[in-house]
Amino acid sequence: TTEIYYDDDADVSTLDDETVAVLGYGSQGHAHALNLHESGVDVIVGLRESSSSRSAAEADGLTVETPAEAVSQASYISVLVPDTVQATVYENDIEPNLEDGDTLQFAHGLNIHYDQIEPSANVDVTMVAPKSPGHLVRRNYENDEGTPGLLAIYQDTTGNAEERALAYAKAIGCARAGVIETTFQEEVESDLFGEQAVLCGGVTSLVKHGYETLVDAGYSPEIAYFECLNELKLIVDLMYEGGNMEMWNSVSDTAEYGGLTRGDRIVDDTVRENMEEVLEEVQNGEFTREWILENQAGRPSYGQLRQAEQEHDIEEVGERLRDLFAWADEEDADAETQEVP
Ligand code: NDP
Ligand code: MG
Ligand code: MG
Repeated sequence: TTEIYYDDDADVSTLDDETVAVLGYGSQGHAHALNLHESGVDVIVGLRESSSSRSAAEADGLTVETPAEAVSQASYISVLVPDTVQATVYENDIEPNLEDGDTLQFAHGLNIHYDQIEPSANVDVTMVAPKSPGHLVRRNYENDEGTPGLLAIYQDTTGNAEERALAYAKAIGCARAGVIETTFQEEVESDLFGEQAVLCGGVTSLVKHGYETLVDAGYSPEIAYFECLNELKLIVDLMYEGGNMEMWNSVSDTAEYGGLTRGDRIVDDTVRENMEEVLEEVQNGEFTREWILENQAGRPSYGQLRQAEQEHDIEEVGERLRDLFAWADEEDADAETQEVP
């Protein structure tokens, strides 16, 4: 069975004699650095001299050094720069400054699992991966709430890799909610598959196909937008709260019967076969090779695909409708303020 750790299983004082270098001050970096700092852990933020995040980190009361300097001062290195630059940052700034027994930590296992970084043999290599965007990791911590996270040990040279990583997970607030033990392989492969097949790729394609089907059949784009995109949030909120059954139980019997009889006709066995193909490309490294080459070439296809997505009718319709909603909300707010003497 899967191990899940909570606050009682971890001790932040494990990190009392350590300094943590948080490299990067973006989505995850700012949240980890601030949460660690407020949990009483010594933190240095590592950023390039030219970095636009420097002033933010300094304004937040944190010490900022160059990545190389931060690594050399620290014993615990948390790599929170974008995945696509980690191998270069490792080579230039991290590896030359690592010492025996340091911890090298990631929030996503891509570079380790696909051998883009071959970590030095004298350090612990761990992962603490909050299952949420950084701004929520920060907001939850401030509200005394937790953010679920994953923990994995790739290399344990000190014998204390797990204890130290758990202390870190507790200090950023993850152990309040629960920290699930996994491996680098499982985290990376399931994460890439999930975002490609279901979360980001699958769901946007489903929405666009639904929207196009209605609009091509002569229905109004506004109605199609509400039906296929806007209402998705309400359905997903119910699934999030109580699983598929909570959703089925909340919609009308007509919606439930229609969905149960038609759903598998839409997302049918061919879709399942496509998913298996996509999973295979994740497992055999084909996807990651493609992504690395795409980056080396300056992201030509990525740019074109984003442009095409931006130009889809649904974007223009959505923008117009969301403006109308904002306008309606403002009206409400005005009405309320006017009632107050
Ligand atoms: P961001 O894109 O938000 O990181 C940006 C930060 O990295 C900035 O401070 C930027 O500073 C710095 N940076 C960029 N390039 C370099 C460089 N070459 N050298 C030094 N610093 C650099 O990253 P995320 O927080 O999104 O991701 C960090 C890690 O967390 C990744 O491994 C990601 O997979 C993982 N993760 C992300 C989640 C998310 O929701 N975003 C969720 C869970 C895990 P500068 O101003 O110098 O560019
Ligand atoms: Mg991901
Ligand atoms: Mg993910």
